[in-house]
Amino acid sequence: MQVSGGTLRARELFIRSRAEDAWDRVMAELAPATREQVGSGFLETRWYPYEVLIDLGATADRVLGQGDFALCHQMGRFSCELTLTTVHRLLLKFGNVGHLVERAATAWRTQFDAGEIIVHEKHRDLYVFEVRGVPEPSRVHCAAITGWMERAAELSGEDDFQHEEKCRALGDRFCMWTFTRRPLRPL
Ligand SMILES: [Zn+2]
Repeated sequence: MQVSGGTLRARELFIRSRAEDAWDRVMAELAPATREQVGSGFLETRWYPYEVLIDLGATADRVLGQGDFALCHQMGRFSCELTLTTVHRLLLKFGNVGHLVERAATAWRTQFDAGEIIVHEKHRDLYVFEVRGVPEPSRVHCAAITGWMERAAELSGEDDFQHEEKCRALGDRFCMWTFTRRPLRPL
């Protein structure tokens, strides 16, 4: 499985935004094979091994965060902001969460050369989608997907959704996200 240079570039920008020396500190801790792939920077026109995404995320989470994947979640939110252009954001304003789940499925195909997002449910108050076909599931990636969807929902003005996640990297049979609208509190 391969990941686009653009996706890795978003990770790099996120890491650099954390602190002036953040990128160098993460680079110093990367596996040698990953460091070799990074070279002098990611080319957006190129594909890279999926392992680069995982090592980069895991290392940054350990070096700059707590090693609990919270930073990976942040990376997903950041990546969403880069992916969704101003035009998309305007569309989302007039659309709904269903639109952005579709958008995420499309974005997947430009970011990865394997796997897919399958939308199982798409109603006004319930969205269920699954990521299928990733050979080696990792919390590094799935935590970022959660962050991506969470931020996309916020940008679309739909900030009253809660989500549950199942993950193969946690022993579940599927990597599946369920977004449900929080019930209105009685007046
Ligand atoms: Zn997962």
